[in-house]
Amino acid sequence: MKYIELVDLYEAIGATTKRLEITRYLVDVLKKTPGEVIGKVVYLTQGKLYPDFAGVEMGMAEKMALRALSAATGLPLEKVERELRSKGDIGTAAENLLKAKKQATLSEKELLVRDVYDVLDKIARITGAGSVEAKVRALSGLLADAKPVEAKYIMRTVTGKMRLGIADMTILEALARAFAGKEARKVIERAYNLTSDLGDVARTLCTDGIEGIKKYHVKTGRPARMMLAQRLESAQEILEKLGKAICEWKYDGERIQIHKQGNKISMFSRRLENITGQYPDVADLARKNIKADRAIVEGECVAVDTDTGAMLPFQVLMHRRRKYGIEKAAKEFPAHMYLFDALLIENDDLTQMSLLERREILKKSIKETNGFKLAQSLISDDVREIEAFFESAIESGCEGLILKSGASGYQAGARSWLWIKLKRSYQSKMIEPIDVVIVGALMGRGRRSGSYGALLVSVYDSERDVFPTITKAGSGFTDEDLKNLPELLSPYELKHRHARVESKLEANVWFTPAVVIEVIGDELTLSPIHMCAYNRIRKDAGIAVRFPRFTHRWRKDKAPEDATNVEEIVDMYRAQLKRIAE
Ligand code: ATP
Repeated sequence: MKYIELVDLYEAIGATTKRLEITRYLVDVLKKTPGEVIGKVVYLTQGKLYPDFAGVEMGMAEKMALRALSAATGLPLEKVERELRSKGDIGTAAENLLKAKKQATLSEKELLVRDVYDVLDKIARITGAGSVEAKVRALSGLLADAKPVEAKYIMRTVTGKMRLGIADMTILEALARAFAGKEARKVIERAYNLTSDLGDVARTLCTDGIEGIKKYHVKTGRPARMMLAQRLESAQEILEKLGKAICEWKYDGERIQIHKQGNKISMFSRRLENITGQYPDVADLARKNIKADRAIVEGECVAVDTDTGAMLPFQVLMHRRRKYGIEKAAKEFPAHMYLFDALLIENDDLTQMSLLERREILKKSIKETNGFKLAQSLISDDVREIEAFFESAIESGCEGLILKSGASGYQAGARSWLWIKLKRSYQSKMIEPIDVVIVGALMGRGRRSGSYGALLVSVYDSERDVFPTITKAGSGFTDEDLKNLPELLSPYELKHRHARVESKLEANVWFTPAVVIEVIGDELTLSPIHMCAYNRIRKDAGIAVRFPRFTHRWRKDKAPEDATNVEEIVDMYRAQLKRIAE
């Protein structure tokens, strides 16, 4: 397959503001993609070479990429740098310079997807002495053969700035339509949910058809997408849904899925990134205390104060999100692991078993120690007993409880009513903060001139795979935040509204949905200008957050599709109406 066919797809996607067109373009290209490269096509389209959990990052420094461009075009580095400064995007800069140059001298080759992938893969993998020179050489060779428009995407990919903003779910939808028909979407999605590897799913589907997809199981080394919880506001309401429930403390830390294969431990975050390096202490605990040779277990990792044994808030763990100095951070901010689920033990995929059975197996498969133990739990259908348990959770530094149906299997990737969280309510009418994605910005005035005055933010509509706006967030940002925001968001800047963003408001700057932050407001209101749940509660109105404040939680652990869902907002709105009526 020729690389230019992919590039044509990217150009078409970049030019449209219609989401359905994106899927249609994808289907057309996937249909004509041969089985041996379809995995690569899927990864490249998402700006990657491997699924996220493989931890292979494609982030060549811009400076290095510019040196390669200078070598490929024979232009002095200063000129190449100037072009980047004036265009603001390394892809466009490369395209322009090559266009001018190629007319004069350089020749082009017909690049295949495989050729481009192999060179990018080599660049990502070279390490050690002389690696910089070798990377620059490999990239300049590729650029010299590329058409200008191909160079645009090669440069964006190699510097980690591809950002077409195509969600996994959009690709799954396109795969289903291309190979198996729309109705097969659920089975394909399940396979993906169990292994989180879109390329692998595409390959299997293309070569073995839907029968191959039906044979998928969880596997160590490949994270399963995590099962998520809904929320309700009282134990009573939850019991009405679940009946007798397994009630567990809701720890305020980081969700971790631990994979053990012999002595090898890998750990994955809520976003399925490989975070093994961040928690060497937890890896040690898992190696010593999981008795099974092969296992996938899940739990919450919590920072603790070693002097008092008290649990510390989630934010403390963010000290672990760094490349260097982890051992020191682990000493300063030690963590404990509280386990609540098991997906695989030895050769048994447990995901279809009930939670009661999984917990029994989990209990038998680990050795409990001070830092590695089962989550506190209680099985009950008594509201008073659950409320007392809730209070003990809060006293110990937890956020509340998660009540779970004992009869349900592990529904990878689903936010169903089988797990329901119960958190402490606040006095204000909007009782819980929500996670929103930054999709646009309005320029600031006065003290804020030169930076952003407010951010246009959205929630996620998973039904339609779009990001409707819910509010403009301007308060709660420190001076330092305001100073840093333009730079932080610049990699995601777009000239027009992203095709998956729904907005009636015009922003001064638009962004590919990527950065997630937490906000809380005074209340949810109906608004004619915001698109969240538009026409759902009232005709010509959506739901908006009034007086939103940034809570200073940067949700780096969340992908844009993990932002609060429109359905949750509708539920919160209805619950608010009920509270007001009471
Ligand atoms: P979510 O993960 O549901 O998208 P969120 O990150 O905003 O949302 P919360 O609303 O705080 O999280 O609640 C869910 C999270 O609670 C889980 O993802 C997990 O990290 C954490 N958690 C803590 N204790 C438990 C438990 N006993 N069982 C399941 N999850 C737990």
